[in-house]
Amino acid sequence: TLLQLIRQLRGRLSLDKSQLKLEVGHIEPVRVRGDEESIRRIMLILLDNAIKYTQGKGEVGLITVSVERKQNEGVFHVQDTGIGIDPGDLPHIFERFYRADRARSQHGTGLGLSIAHTLAEQLGGRITAESVPGEGSTFSVWLPLARSQQ
Ligand code: ATP
Repeated sequence: TLLQLIRQLRGRLSLDKSQLKLEVGHIEPVRVRGDEESIRRIMLILLDNAIKYTQGKGEVGLITVSVERKQNEGVFHVQDTGIGIDPGDLPHIFERFYRADRARSQHGTGLGLSIAHTLAEQLGGRITAESVPGEGSTFSVWLPLARSQQ
């Protein structure tokens, strides 16, 4: 399940606990279709970004992961209280090499989200993002449910 993946990934993240808290929020026991390695890579990219763009903000941040079922899809959310994304940048963040001005103080190549986006599409799903500049962002990964759950 997605929860098992989240638990596994927790240990692989470079969290500075004095600056950042990672919380597991509401979790519904959803099973999604798709290979575990791809889903793990998508989660890791989103969690790495949430950490990077929250830890650098200069106040104690919070990242909350949650899982829910919405109709025929399982949705995995990564919500952060980081620097946020300007509305003008939001439509472009999944493009290769795109980096918002806000993000330039952190290292990055601008490739992570385009890879995550491609992987999600290969699994028959998608990724969406919402953000309020200065307050935080929420990335959501939508994946088709496993056949046993339909
Ligand atoms: P890398 O490929 O090393 O992850 P990156 O973080 O710059 O580098 P992407 O992961 O593709 O590249 O993200 C693209 C851009 O989207 C970032 O440069 C940043 O502007 C914005 N972004 C992504 N995630 C967040 C987030 N959680 N909070 C704020 N901005 C974000």
